[in-house]
Amino acid sequence: NLSQRLGRVVKTIRGQARLTEANTQEMMREVRLALLEADVALPVVKTFVEQVKQKAMGQEVAASLSPGQALVGVVNRELTDLMGGDLGPEAGELSLAVQPPAVILMAGLQGAGKTTTTGKLARWLAQGNHVQQGRKSGKKKVAVVSTDVYRPAAIEQLKTVAKQADVDWIASESNQKPADIARAALEHAKRQHIDVLIVDTAGRLGIDEVMMQEIQMLHQILNPVETLFVVDAMQGQDAVNTARAFGEALPLTGVVLTKLDGDARGGAALSVRQVTGKPLKFVGVSEKLDGLEPFYPDRMAQRVLGMGDIVSLVEQAQQNIDMAQAEKLASKMKSGDKFDLNDFREQIAQVKKMGDMGSLLEKLPGEMAAAASQLQGGQAEKQLRRTEGILNSMTPLERAKPELLKASRKRRIAAGAGVPVQEVNRLLKQFEQMQDMMKKMKKGGMAKMMRAMGG
Ligand code: GDP
Ligand code: MG
Repeated sequence: NLSQRLGRVVKTIRGQARLTEANTQEMMREVRLALLEADVALPVVKTFVEQVKQKAMGQEVAASLSPGQALVGVVNRELTDLMGGDLGPEAGELSLAVQPPAVILMAGLQGAGKTTTTGKLARWLAQGNHVQQGRKSGKKKVAVVSTDVYRPAAIEQLKTVAKQADVDWIASESNQKPADIARAALEHAKRQHIDVLIVDTAGRLGIDEVMMQEIQMLHQILNPVETLFVVDAMQGQDAVNTARAFGEALPLTGVVLTKLDGDARGGAALSVRQVTGKPLKFVGVSEKLDGLEPFYPDRMAQRVLGMGDIVSLVEQAQQNIDMAQAEKLASKMKSGDKFDLNDFREQIAQVKKMGDMGSLLEKLPGEMAAAASQLQGGQAEKQLRRTEGILNSMTPLERAKPELLKASRKRRIAAGAGVPVQEVNRLLKQFEQMQDMMKKMKKGGMAKMMRAMGG
């Protein structure tokens, strides 16, 4: 009935419903499973879930959401924050503001996508796609060089890629030492006034002492402004160990997560971020050279969580609840200022917005549907529409001064709303009771009122 619904509105405003261990337990299990399915490493999941618990407990729940859904909202925000916050236009920034050439060193296991990403980045910079502090940094003169002398085809591969990307390729030979290639390339880049030199390196199939020593030496020679760890999103759980090894061997400045065009849910992003503490800067989304995108933490969070529907639902709920308005009303009620039918109408409009969410909820699977029906109750919505119809048939003055509503006005309003006059009377009566309660509330506090309303 109406006073129950009013109770719910008041509940929203006062934030009586809070997240607890008990009312989020089930969803917490779902979240844990989702993260594991996304291939986030187990220890990372454990730490993360603990973190979320500490953040979430005690938080308020919007009236249109079940505690479980609200929890997903918290999880999503935490995930986003953990992966670098909502970087927006700053996503994918490289530090290139140094005395040229700015050197970018690519590190990672064999097959991770270093050579491909070298080409992608070269093209990205050469075409002037790079954004720095919100502004495109202009077209760069880019050169690439391969120090992968262990597989003759590797040098050729970079040559082909450089041609496709339309950037300078600095020749190297498989009988040269990587250190010599690096020194020569640096000299060449200086002479040719290259803005950015990207150095592709050899990887191994697994973590390997020799490989690490070699890339540490290259780092020393090149003094790169960016040292990017390239990791295959499909590596899943193993990404943790690889990231740890490279993070310990090198002062990484960022991560590129490749092959996100596959089925990988991207759990590696979270693991790698957690382990290295370095920002994810780009993602690879195809084998082609234009398949490079800045890393957006919010998008990745949704992908990892795999609960996009719920996340957008939560976001929508947050938008729908006009906080400013709610607060205004709350303070009006608290101060015992006149709370008239105009305010009442505003509240109903808010509740109705939440009601619309109900239909969205229905599309959700399994246990979510339960929450949906809880909220839905087509009956309640119908009643809400009728109430609103009646209020809409009143003039603003009538809503501000209900005492004006004598018989003839009531008949007019009832006709306008298409309801019997008794319903108008009932509404006014309930509103009176509500105002009464508010007066009591002013004396006895909100708790008393909640009890009176059965909330
Ligand atoms: P490297 O050994 O680290 O240099 O790895 P490569 O750059 O040679 O890449 C290994 C394989 O992964 C190649 O077949 C690439 O085409 C492929 N690859 C690299 N990045 C991506 C990507 O973002 N998406 C897809 N689908 N394939 C990629
Ligand atoms: Mg390679």
